[in-house]
Amino acid sequence: MTSELGLEKRQFGHRARLALSPAEIRLIDDQAHAARTMWNCLHAWWTMLPKAKRTLAAADAAIRQARKEIDWLGALPAQAAQAVLKTYFQAWKNCWEGRAEEPNFKARFRSAMSVDVPQGRDLQVTRVHRRWGMVNIPKVGRVRFRWTRDLPVGKTANADNRITGARLIKDALGWHVAFRITTLEAKPEPHQGPQAGIDAGVTIPLALSDDNHQDHGRPARLPNGTSDRDKWLKADEKAKLLRLERQAARLKQHRKPGQRSSNRLRAVYDQIGKLRAKAKRRATDWQHQTTTYLARTYSVLVVEHLDIPNMTKSARGTIEEPGKNVKQKAGLNRSISQEAWGRTVTMLTYKTARYGGTLHKVPAPGTSQRCSACGFTTPGSRESQAVFVCKNPGCGWSGNADHNAARNVLHLYRMGLALVPAAGRAVVRRPRRVKPATAR
Ligand SMILES: [Zn+2]
Repeated sequence: MTSELGLEKRQFGHRARLALSPAEIRLIDDQAHAARTMWNCLHAWWTMLPKAKRTLAAADAAIRQARKEIDWLGALPAQAAQAVLKTYFQAWKNCWEGRAEEPNFKARFRSAMSVDVPQGRDLQVTRVHRRWGMVNIPKVGRVRFRWTRDLPVGKTANADNRITGARLIKDALGWHVAFRITTLEAKPEPHQGPQAGIDAGVTIPLALSDDNHQDHGRPARLPNGTSDRDKWLKADEKAKLLRLERQAARLKQHRKPGQRSSNRLRAVYDQIGKLRAKAKRRATDWQHQTTTYLARTYSVLVVEHLDIPNMTKSARGTIEEPGKNVKQKAGLNRSISQEAWGRTVTMLTYKTARYGGTLHKVPAPGTSQRCSACGFTTPGSRESQAVFVCKNPGCGWSGNADHNAARNVLHLYRMGLALVPAAGRAVVRRPRRVKPATAR
């Protein structure tokens, strides 16, 4: 999407916190519950129907009928109901093309609450204050949100720079609005900086081939070897979390099977959720700052291609063939998914592109076992998770194991072994026969 003027179309999201009254919160909650029910009805309808009758038009008719017959489904605006249908079909497409699991029913407490506002013109975003903007939410009205970055609204909006839609999302902090934005920006100059390989390490979160490691100073493991899932919390917050978890366990004891959770237990769960959400925000913040720094500094970044879903799956094994060392591996996997490697790679992909650099992926096998000085894989070289000492008699290089892997990653790229240019998720998937969305 490049025009002759050296301009480039860019699409991104921006998330802002909504300031809502309790009544408005209830209205949006109702919409989200209706959207979830719509999804569940749609899924039941779809899985029940003979394959020949599963068409988009029939689904659309079913949704219209449901909105007429079940009055509280009418709380959901018609556009949002259409968006549920679209997301549902996309979920099947993602499944058929091998990107995701089959869509399933959405449970009330396990699924995130969200409502789509698919059309940007419904939003009528305006800025009313240095710190506040106003947005129109269908069937709720005009509400305030925190203004933390300049959005293309009012006179600055045109065909190329505009808000194309939004989604309302609820987390532990309450309702947020995530805007979808399209802009036309000047293409960046090619980056002139150095090249670096990155390894998602166990002892260092991001080890770099040139020793410029990125660490947040929060060890991923506790002294007893288990992974610390609350490493982003401060000591007093960890103590509070422990107290809350004990309280929840105590309250749960008094609940009979099949009985609903008490209000007090639910309040404790909410507080636990808030602490966990705080930890997650801190982790994401560090990730954003670090990946921005890396994209600004380096022209070429090379990462190893890790198949994280498969890694976490394989430890468990199957029923016939249970995995070995499941507990230890589960700990390792948890610290891998906690460092959220996939999200780091996604951020690096779009950030390097913005600063004129590139991101490449290389095949992972062996990078942590091979010596980066002599290039030989000698058994026993990786002494522990942290230390690498080359056992090749003529070499003897020693250093941090993650640093060694990062040097290998960069070497693989310089040897021309990079996979197809890394750009989003489509690259790494096995090609599969694609079935059309409707004729199935
Ligand atoms: Zn060596």
